[in-house]
Amino acid sequence: MKILISRRGGYCYGVQRALDIAHNAARESREPIHTLGPIIHNPGVVKELATAGVSAVDEHLDVAGGTIILRTHGVGPQVIEEIAARGLVIVDATCPYVKIAQEKASSLREQGYLPVILGEHDHPEVVALVANAGEKAMVVENADELEPAKVKGKKVGVVVQTTQASANLAALAARLAPVCRELLVHNTMCNATQKCQEEALRLAEKAGAVIVIGGRNSANTTRLAQLCRAVQPRTFHIEEVDELLPEWFQGVETVAITAGASTPPEQMEEVAARLREYGF
Ligand code: SF4
Repeated sequence: MKILISRRGGYCYGVQRALDIAHNAARESREPIHTLGPIIHNPGVVKELATAGVSAVDEHLDVAGGTIILRTHGVGPQVIEEIAARGLVIVDATCPYVKIAQEKASSLREQGYLPVILGEHDHPEVVALVANAGEKAMVVENADELEPAKVKGKKVGVVVQTTQASANLAALAARLAPVCRELLVHNTMCNATQKCQEEALRLAEKAGAVIVIGGRNSANTTRLAQLCRAVQPRTFHIEEVDELLPEWFQGVETVAITAGASTPPEQMEEVAARLREYGF
């Protein structure tokens, strides 16, 4: 069996940076340290950080003292004000690419555009984008969700959740352009996601089965698996190497392995090692 491992799979720049920031904070502070929500969608890594003294909380208003680390998805201005008002130390690990999307969302509001955010409803990154874009902002997950009557004749500005696929943005822009008075599109998709997706698709085309590793609640990993499945229906999304089943690979000559942005890259090697153990 030939095994193809993605060179772009696993931790992206923003996640690696956030983990480094969290570990540094743990080393340098004697006060309690919390992340607002799990720092990444990877239960093993969250547990490891908790052992190092950084625990996840769901609600900043529950924290009485110490430090709060903002994770890669970022938060809205009001949350930052509330944390500061409680006298807590803020360590901002918002990914710089997410920051750019937030700034673009704020600028749309300031310049009088009707902000349309392409992203998943209720995803923390999208919630923070809405908080920056203002209460008129509209969230759509895809072009079909857009109601043309709501944007007809208006000055519309688009901001994109960083992990979206480019085809989704192209479809939305094509639907908006004929009905808006003016259309400004900020392509705030993250290059790391795009590159990882493109490489995964290249590998999936060559493979008889694809393994995508990452948390099931990770938007990034779920989308990666969906894209691979469209090319290779024998695509399996796993969180742990122990979920692999030998029968998935019967008769398969080439397996591609990739991983979401919140997955330690060494997990791809672990999966490859397990496949070799099967001895196909
Ligand atoms: S996927 Fe991109 S935007 Fe998201 S954390 Fe990683 S580098 Fe940042």
